[in-house]
Amino acid sequence: METPRSEQFDDIYFAVENGLEESRYVFLAQNNLPDAWMSRSRFTIAETGFGTGLNFLCAWSLFEETAPANHHLTYISFEKFPLTSADILKYLGHWSGEFGGRLEQLAALYPLRVGGWHRLAVSPRVTLILIFDDVNRAIPELDAAVDCWFLDGHAPAKNPDMWSDILFQSMGRLSRRGARFATFTAAGFVRRGIAAAGFQVSKARGYGRKRDMSVGVFMGDGLGDVRPAPPDAVAVIGGGIAGASLVAALTQRGATVDLYDERGLASGASGNIRGLFNPRISAQRDAEADFYSSGFAYSYRMFHELARGGLDIGFEDCGALHFVTDEQKAQRYARFVENWGWPADDASLVSRDEARTISGVPVRQDALYLPHSGMVSPVLVVPVLAQSARQIYKERVERIERSGEGWLVNGRSYSHVVLASAHDVTRFPEAAFLPLQKVRGQVSIVDTPLGLSALQTNLCYGGYASHPFGGKMVVGSTFQHWLDTPDLRDEDHHYVLEKLAECVEGVSIDAVNVTGGRVGFRCAAKDRRPVVGALDTEKGLYISAAHGSHGLVSAPVAAEYIAAQIYGDILPAPRSVITLLAPDRFKAKS
Ligand code: SAM
Repeated sequence: METPRSEQFDDIYFAVENGLEESRYVFLAQNNLPDAWMSRSRFTIAETGFGTGLNFLCAWSLFEETAPANHHLTYISFEKFPLTSADILKYLGHWSGEFGGRLEQLAALYPLRVGGWHRLAVSPRVTLILIFDDVNRAIPELDAAVDCWFLDGHAPAKNPDMWSDILFQSMGRLSRRGARFATFTAAGFVRRGIAAAGFQVSKARGYGRKRDMSVGVFMGDGLGDVRPAPPDAVAVIGGGIAGASLVAALTQRGATVDLYDERGLASGASGNIRGLFNPRISAQRDAEADFYSSGFAYSYRMFHELARGGLDIGFEDCGALHFVTDEQKAQRYARFVENWGWPADDASLVSRDEARTISGVPVRQDALYLPHSGMVSPVLVVPVLAQSARQIYKERVERIERSGEGWLVNGRSYSHVVLASAHDVTRFPEAAFLPLQKVRGQVSIVDTPLGLSALQTNLCYGGYASHPFGGKMVVGSTFQHWLDTPDLRDEDHHYVLEKLAECVEGVSIDAVNVTGGRVGFRCAAKDRRPVVGALDTEKGLYISAAHGSHGLVSAPVAAEYIAAQIYGDILPAPRSVITLLAPDRFKAKS
């Protein structure tokens, strides 16, 4: 077996001869596991440096072997330089038998290595929140009550930046009363930093030939564990990608959910036969970038899993070329690649010639290439995600009424309501303050033009053209907030096709045969960000709307955030993302 080494830190991940035993000794036994989780129905471990996931696999296995059947483990791990799942299999394959199929399960669920927060329900009893970011950037953004810390990460001498006061102080902020930590190092500044954060720190015998390691117990008051009662039943209003994703995320946690849409599923902007999924590309890695990056990885994994399960959702991870059509885009894409923390196999800048090779057609510009971007059929995905609803009511919901501790929706009782009906949410007085706008989008469905029959990818240029499917392509889209006609317009077909012709040589619009089209109305907020979160936490009222033209990427992960909020689970998102999306941002500041 090969010893995994880190290039960045010139250090090994673990020793091949005894890495497994060392992990069990240092992180499990010295943290008093399994005893510590026997009396806690919800136990949380936080780790610095996910690496190969060896510690995680040891903890996951031991938890399922020892903890009472109704106990749940959340394992949060930070990783700045994620390995690939192939590397993980290569490095840990040797011990596969020790983990009873969990190694292969982890590899199958492992997210794209793009920066962001990735929540994986690896088993019904174990949730992994994998945070691909520098721990010092991400941990101040975490809200959790941690029972146990695994301080891994390369040796302080080789990686002093990781062992920072930000980390130690965050341990103080996030620890539950009596929380423990263990680490292989006995470095003085680490021990002092952790002590200053409120831990009683002591030395323990190190593993094997190592003389000392450090352990400790949190002596501060610590965080409590107040969890809301689980929902009785949830009404989701709106049958597009936002509503359907909510059904999936809530029922996955065991909720009973009814869905309401007066026109039925996927009747609005989610009704296209093909939709492209891409992040909303920006120059900075800010909260908005964290959201779209995590959302992209989440949707990719979800579509991938559905397709792998044999469902026809029109999924193709054919990649996308985003053309550098002006200087502003050149800047933005270059800084995107530099700042977002996406590895080269997820995003790279390519020359026009490379773009021609990748796409198979004579494109005119350099491009940003996103190989894992792709497309699905929203009109097929939505019913799949909504299928675990208890009922789908094709009814108009005129109002929602408070009734005791809950809500009445068309005469039926619910503990929680989520508004997810795009612009229509403003009809409810509870959401009327939101500055939402309808943006008309017309797409054209065309027979694949001769010059594009070899096209291998999606093309994006402000407008977009899908990879050909069944002899057809979808070409989109208009952005018309000033227009509200649902009818197809010839000048709009002309407009979107003209933009395509500007990007690829030899495409003549006169020769393109338009066979159909569709008009949808996206919903966008004044600041162009989705509106996701609680309208009123006490009353159990939530919203997921304003997903604009990125609903395939933003609505599924948004549903995860809302489900976590309703259940009082650890939020799988930075605080700044939750704040960025919260409907409160439009409430008058007094
Ligand atoms: N726990 C791992 C396992 O079970 O395989 C081994 C961890 S390895 C010794 C240390 C890991 O910490 C590396 O994967 C490295 O990329 C990561 N790391 C180093 N500095 C970091 C930082 N500032 N933030 C997050 N992760 C970091």
